[in-house]
Amino acid sequence: MSDSSHLVCPHCQAINRVPTARLDQKPNCGQCHRTLFTGHPVELTTSTFARHLDHNDIPLVVDFWAPWCGPCKMMAPAFVQAAAMLEPLVRVAKVNTDTEQALGTQYSIRSIPTLILFKDGHEVARQAGAMTKQDIVRWVRAH
Ligand SMILES: [Zn+2]
Repeated sequence: MSDSSHLVCPHCQAINRVPTARLDQKPNCGQCHRTLFTGHPVELTTSTFARHLDHNDIPLVVDFWAPWCGPCKMMAPAFVQAAAMLEPLVRVAKVNTDTEQALGTQYSIRSIPTLILFKDGHEVARQAGAMTKQDIVRWVRAH
């Protein structure tokens, strides 16, 4: 990893440059001054997804889900806990495939929940089906 990392603010979408050594010191956004890591998955939409995909130097893991999906609801608390464990080395996000159907189509999401791990803007791994917190963390770290 280089000396500094670009991070997209989950609140105002500003691109921040953070010294890598300071990643785990709860860095704040230079623009809106809110924390860059909330311990919660960032809700991404069609308009914010590409920005987070292209401008985060850290890997991005996305939960593609829908409100009517039982297994998604079951996995949601585990995903939140996994987010707290994976930050700040991974950006954790969610996409509601009901409201953001274009993203579901773009990534050919056939079943939900589906987790996709992106690195440098490219998909490096994908996993369908509900997972426990331990499984999520293990799966992300394995890649
Ligand atoms: Zn901000």
